[in-house]
This record gives sequence, structure tokens and C-alpha cells, in this order.
Amino acid sequence: MADRELMASRLLVVDDDQAFGRLMKRAAEPCGYEVVATDDPRDVRRIVQTWRPAVIVLDLQIPGIDGIELLRRLATDQCGAQLILASGVDGRTLEAALELGRERGLKMAGTLAKPVDLQHVRELLEKFRPADNGRLLHDLRAAIPLGQLFLEYQLKLDCQTGRVTGVEALVRWQHPTLGLVRPDRFIPLAEETCLIDPLTDWIAATAIRQAASWHSQRFNLDVAINISAKNAQDIELPDRLARHCAECGVAPASVILELTETSAMRNAVQLLDVLTRLRLKGFELAIDDFGTGYSSLVQLRRMPFSELKVDCSFVMRMTTDKECRFIVETLIDLAHKLGLRSVAEGVENAEALAALRAMGCDSAQGYYLSRPLPADRLAAFLKEHKELPAAATPRDASAAG
Ligand code: C2E
Ligand code: MG
Ligand code: MG
Repeated sequence: MADRELMASRLLVVDDDQAFGRLMKRAAEPCGYEVVATDDPRDVRRIVQTWRPAVIVLDLQIPGIDGIELLRRLATDQCGAQLILASGVDGRTLEAALELGRERGLKMAGTLAKPVDLQHVRELLEKFRPADNGRLLHDLRAAIPLGQLFLEYQLKLDCQTGRVTGVEALVRWQHPTLGLVRPDRFIPLAEETCLIDPLTDWIAATAIRQAASWHSQRFNLDVAINISAKNAQDIELPDRLARHCAECGVAPASVILELTETSAMRNAVQLLDVLTRLRLKGFELAIDDFGTGYSSLVQLRRMPFSELKVDCSFVMRMTTDKECRFIVETLIDLAHKLGLRSVAEGVENAEALAALRAMGCDSAQGYYLSRPLPADRLAAFLKEHKELPAAATPRDASAAG
């Protein structure tokens, strides 16, 4: 079934729990979805083929047929809908089912652990409205010249000394009618088109200029910039970034380029060319969201990274989930054994920060230390807290942002 045949705002809910169907309706209809719920798995293939929903929310445990079997059948039918898996099973099983769907060539949009959070459902659904995506992309083209984009900066703390060593630049879009649009919503759209190139260029130039301004105020901050998969295939990227640095008088050594693990592993030769040249020019390279992608350790060793960022999904749960704690500990150890600096993102409480210090983690980043802040507020925050003692009380700035 081809994508173009799908009906953009139709959502099918497959669940034997009718209350869940009603809840999904409550979440999805305000987002503009037409919702059909069925509790009979035998109906699913017929509905999918005739009603052609763009999104399907599927419970993995329905009496009469299991969700895995249904996934197999949908794959056989070449179903092009975005699939969201919902279930009360443990997170690992849910993730395994998601991976299985991907391997079968289905478009796996995400998981919903029951009991579901309405806000989370809405955020997931917001992503898959093709009609809106077209409009958003159209508006995004004009967003740079119209000055609607801006950067926020989230500080990074040296776990051992408590000193702020740098920031990560995170892009935001103040849309005239939609309000604040998160990067998760528009970066993937930009990545599907050439728009990601001017966008990253603007972000890098702005962040490097901002770093120069901080340096002139004696805030010696490194600045981390997120680079998309597509950017990292662009052989002119190293020269462009070096030019921005030269124009602003910022040493490339104080610029860290963050690549996600998944994107880091595509088209390895071209990528290795770009990354190696970036390193030769003096830039630092971080592998972002490590632990969630599909790279092998061999690939990690081959790429010239200097820093490993442990994915926030593990760090956020490390104080309540023993497995997550072990994963964080292992990844920090792995980073050090490979000669990389370790950074944990998603530090949300003092306990996590203390545990990271004990594990020997180099840097921490997270809401407990500070939310991402606009440049002027970050400077004010730093003037107030020159050194953030590790494992101290929550910062007031984290309540703002
Ligand atoms: P990322 O690079 O992994 O950035 C970290 C994200 O985690 C940020 O979300 C940040 O606000 C959030 N975060 C930080 N600390 C905490 C915490 O303690 N708890 C929780 N729950 N979240 C925390 P944000 O700003 O929404 O960015 C999301 C993703 O969008 C980024 O993930 C990155 O992949 C992408 N992105 C953001 N800015 C840019 C950009 O300028 N260029 C590109 N290419 N991608 C960007
Ligand atoms: Mg990042
Ligand atoms: Mg990250």
C-alpha cells in the first residue's frame, strides 16, 4: 500500500480495551484526527485496506491474535501507516517489538506504555500529520529570514569540580500562529529536504558568534552544536565551520559537534572523511544519544569521536531503575576505555548527579542543573552561580525556562 494512498488525518486504534479507544479519541480529535477504534483484530486488515489510516495505534496484547502476528500481517500487506505500539508489557519487550516492526520494514513511530499520558499521546500524533508538515515546511523556509528562529543554551557541568565548562546550543522556532515549535518537530522535516543545510549553517554561525561574545566577557565556555546526518555527509562542512570560527576569533577546540549515534553510522566512508577533517581542523566531536542507536562498537572505534553522550533515557531513570544505572555505568566505562570523555544528559535530580560523580562521569547536563536558556539569561545565571557545586540543591533557573 503506497503512502500517497493514505488518508492523512485518519487514526485507527486497535485495542480490546474500549476505554483506551475513548481515551485515544480524546487525545487525537483535538489534533484534527478522525478516529476509528476496533477491538476485533480480524477487522484490522480490512479497515487498513479500505479506510487507509495514516496512523495506527496497536495494542500488543489483544485476545484472539497477538500483536506480533498482526505486525507480520501488516508487513505482508506493505502497510505504509505510522505504527504506534501500546501495551502494559515491560519497556524492554515493547522496544523489542518496535525493533521487530522496523526490521520488517514497517514505519514504527514509537511506543506508548500503559497507562498512557495524554500529553505524550498528543506529542506523538502531532508528528504525523502530513498536511500540516507541508505547511510547516513552507513556513520553515521563511523562518530564518523572518528572524523566527533562536537558540537556547543548556549548560554542561564538570561533575568532579562543579564548574560550568560549556553549553549545548538548541534551536527553537517561534512560529507566528503555532507558538513555540520544538526541534523534534521541525528538524526531521528540514532533514528530508535541503533546508537542513542553511538551517545548520545559521545555527552554527549564531552559536559560534555567541561563544565569542561570552569569551569576551570572560566566560570560557565550550559550545556544542547538533549536526544532522545529512550535514555530516557534506564535504564542505569542515571549511564552512572553520570559516565561522576564524571570523569570530573562536578556536575550533572550543566547538563540539554532536552527531546522533544512528546518523553517525550511515554512509561510513564519506562520514569518516568529513569527521576526520573536522578533527584535523581542531573541532571536538561527540556521539550524541549513545545507547539508543544501532551502531556497533567497532564503528564507534573507527570514528574519530572525542566525547560520548549517554542518552538521557537511561540517565533519567538511573535512580529508579537498576538496569538503567548499570547501562549508564557501563557506557561511562566504555567511553573512558576508548579514550573518550563521558557526558550524561538528562540529569534531573541531585541523586543522579551524585551517582554520576561516583561513577567518574566527566560532565553532566540536565534540568536539575539548568533548563536550556536564552543567551542573556544564561549569562545572568552564570554571574550568579560561578560554580555549581555538584550534588547541591536544585537551581532556581531550572524552574524557569
Ligand atoms: P539532543 O541533542 O540530545 O538534546 C538534548 C535534549 O534533551 C534537548 O531537547 C534538551 O532540552 C533535553 N533535555 C536536557 N536535559 C534534560 C532533562 O534533564 N530532562 C529531559 N526530559 N530532557 C532534557 P530539545 O531542545 O527539545 O532537543 C531535542 C533534540 O532536537 C535534540 O536532542 C537534537 O537531536 C535536536 N536538536 C535540537 N537543536 C538542534 C539543532 O540546533 N540542530 C539539529 N540538527 N538538531 C537539534
Ligand atoms: Mg545534542
Ligand atoms: Mg542527546
